[in-house]
Amino acid sequence: MSQKVDVIIIGGGIIGCSVAYYTAKAGLSVHLVERGSIAQATTRAAAGMLGAHSEYLNETFYSFARESQALYQAFCNHSEIDFGYTAGGILQLARTEEERLALSRWHEATHLSPEQVCERMPDIVPPPFGASIFEDDVHVHPEKAALAFWKAAEKLGATLSEHVHVTKVETVDAGYRIADWTATHIVIAGGAASAKLLPGLQMTTVKGQCMQLDAMGIDLPYTLFHQGCYVVPRLDGTLVVGATMEPDESDLQTNIAGNFALNAIAERFIPGLSRFPVLKRWAGFRPKTVDELPYIGQIPGKENMYIAAGHFRNGILLAPATACMIRDLIVGHEVHTERIETFDPKRGIFHGANNRTKRQPV
Ligand SMILES: Cc1cc2nc3c(=O)[nH]c(=O)nc-3n(C[C@H](O)[C@H](O)[C@H](O)COP(=O)(O)OP(=O)(O)OC[C@H]3O[C@@H](n4cnc5c(N)ncnc54)[C@H](O)[C@@H]3O)c2cc1C
Repeated sequence: MSQKVDVIIIGGGIIGCSVAYYTAKAGLSVHLVERGSIAQATTRAAAGMLGAHSEYLNETFYSFARESQALYQAFCNHSEIDFGYTAGGILQLARTEEERLALSRWHEATHLSPEQVCERMPDIVPPPFGASIFEDDVHVHPEKAALAFWKAAEKLGATLSEHVHVTKVETVDAGYRIADWTATHIVIAGGAASAKLLPGLQMTTVKGQCMQLDAMGIDLPYTLFHQGCYVVPRLDGTLVVGATMEPDESDLQTNIAGNFALNAIAERFIPGLSRFPVLKRWAGFRPKTVDELPYIGQIPGKENMYIAAGHFRNGILLAPATACMIRDLIVGHEVHTERIETFDPKRGIFHGANNRTKRQPV
């Protein structure tokens, strides 16, 4: 006898775990299926920044990201689990006049001259054109955040099957079946591997390597950010330095080239930083869509089947807002039209001769 729920979610990364929480919170019965263990894939590789400003893509992305930051704040106030939510924000450095001008358009930032940066943070390489503090761009511990969402979902009655690899979703009268479970609604949240469940879905990966340093004595009140690279001060006093951007890579190993690149990033921010002891190195695959914006929404031609995947550099940042959008689609709440259009999975599903880009394996 199969067990019936309202929603089955495939994939237990930050996206699947947050979808589990917000759908369970809406009163739906939820089952999460994960082929390994939850929060161990790309989610574990992330630095955990909620960089709504540093990762700005367009206005729809921005309003979505800001909403997600607010949802994290609310979840943090309510969560029984400490998931490393760290105030302070991101200090974006300006090393050219053009970068200073680009930062100056943000009214919510505090803009600092080079002298003010030196005064506040004597350890860092002085940015010639100053820097801007974005206090709301806080960070979280990504693995702990995913686990916190899952634990909160479980408390609301959600259930979990780990080590179950979904290879196909069967259609049945009442909806969909996966192994011993049937559901009215299916949410594919398999990160980069989502493409394997949806023929024609355009998804590539960009490998990122990071290192974590035992940087005793360096006290950073902010995450330092410049041109996609960063140093994130974790609550335990360590620093995460990231990250490389390596398209077309297929192995998840860290390597010498990555070590060199990360040392160079570290030195660009803080002289001598690369000589601190390395506690850990790791790599992950960022799931990339056709336009770097995620696929969130109903899959064309598949009633009650949704995807929430392809969050590229921003899956941690966008997880709660993504989950709430999926919840709203499922329960029939209104969703902003521009969000439906911007994140529509249709833009990444191509068939046969109409293929606009060559599909790459993940
Ligand atoms: C180096 C690096 C740094 C990053 N830093 C940041 C950052 O600071 N801030 C930020 O917002 N984002 C960051 N990211 C991006 C972020 O990590 C990803 O966007 C996010 O983790 C994607 O989450 P996900 O849940 O979609 O995917 P995953 O974490 O990959 O989870 C997907 C899960 O689905 C499971 N799965 C897949 N297929 C199946 C199947 N068929 N059956 C069952 N289970 C399945 C997988 O096992 C996996 O557990 C970073 C990424 C990297 C690599």
